[in-house]
Amino acid sequence: MKDLRNLTEAEMQELAKEAGQPAFRGRQLFGWVYKGRTDFREMTNLPEVFTAWLKENAELDSLKLLARQKSKTDGTQKFLYGLKDGNAVETVFMKYKYGNTVCVSSQAGCRMHCAFCASGINGLVRSLTAGEIISQLLDTERETGEKISRIVVMGTGEPFDNYDQISRFIRILHEKDGRNMSSRNITVSSCGLVPGIRKFSEDFPQVNLAVSLHAPVSSLRDELMPVNHSYPLEELIPACRAYTEKTGRRITFEYALIRGKNDTDEMIGKLIHLLRGMLCHVNLIPLNEVSETGLLTSGRKRAEEIQKRLEDSGIPATVRRQLGADIDGACGQLRLKAQKQSDDSSVTVK
Ligand code: SAH
Repeated sequence: MKDLRNLTEAEMQELAKEAGQPAFRGRQLFGWVYKGRTDFREMTNLPEVFTAWLKENAELDSLKLLARQKSKTDGTQKFLYGLKDGNAVETVFMKYKYGNTVCVSSQAGCRMHCAFCASGINGLVRSLTAGEIISQLLDTERETGEKISRIVVMGTGEPFDNYDQISRFIRILHEKDGRNMSSRNITVSSCGLVPGIRKFSEDFPQVNLAVSLHAPVSSLRDELMPVNHSYPLEELIPACRAYTEKTGRRITFEYALIRGKNDTDEMIGKLIHLLRGMLCHVNLIPLNEVSETGLLTSGRKRAEEIQKRLEDSGIPATVRRQLGADIDGACGQLRLKAQKQSDDSSVTVK
């Protein structure tokens, strides 16, 4: 069975030919897929012989909704989707003034093992296909009944550890007869795999890039993010600088504030020294506490003090709104909970 959501428009035209149809039938099919249709019978301009062939040879429902949580305080919703092979991934739907946003996972699990993160606790199971990532968008639109205009690849997984599928995913989103989504509405967040950053600046210079920094010196970053052993700050920061020079675009540095670790006056001083003069923006995130990690959050008040200090030093900084804090805001927590087969009543298991 071919996952239709894994195909570019050109590949769908090839598929039509394989089915004995002219190529333009593939273009029509592509349009239906990105209108979110999953029932071939609704694709009214396709001949019956083609839809019958598709029913036998192709599929549009690679994900199964396993659980859903709704925030009572804002419009945030979390979805746990089951994959064909029994794994599960998390997707978050968020409402912002400038449009609805979906945060998608790029892998089932993660092998980066950041000390504060719930997603890596059980390691990497496997990378997702582009179709499975697209499905998180389309299925979330279907479940919420809302149009989604922005995508952030910031869920479970390291996108640059799955570069080929992320790149296919972005190319499919760009297709004119499909989503026709502009690069500006897509953000990819990486823990700092330097070769990925370099390649991304060549392939997708207009797509937004966020880099998870979390520490201004390698001694601390080694402790919080093991990836720093392979790509230390001394290589990462020049690669980020090269990215901004090549693309002319601002990098967002994510910085999760962990009490007594990276939020001290000394560390913030080093952060200012590190980033001064760079085309960047710092997104301060009060840590979402994951009980398994033992790390504590700095709290909102400290985050605001740090924001002011950065701004006073000429480094643009914001404190991230904590959306969905009442529904396990930190990525990977719902999945982790499901793995533990918790009977938490706030999870509506379908
Ligand atoms: N692997 C990618 C994308 C997934 S993580 C990356 O590292 O960027 C998305 C963001 O959430 C990253 O900045 C990550 O460091 C952050 N994050 C993970 N666990 C968190 C937690 N408990 N509290 C706050 N931010 C967290």
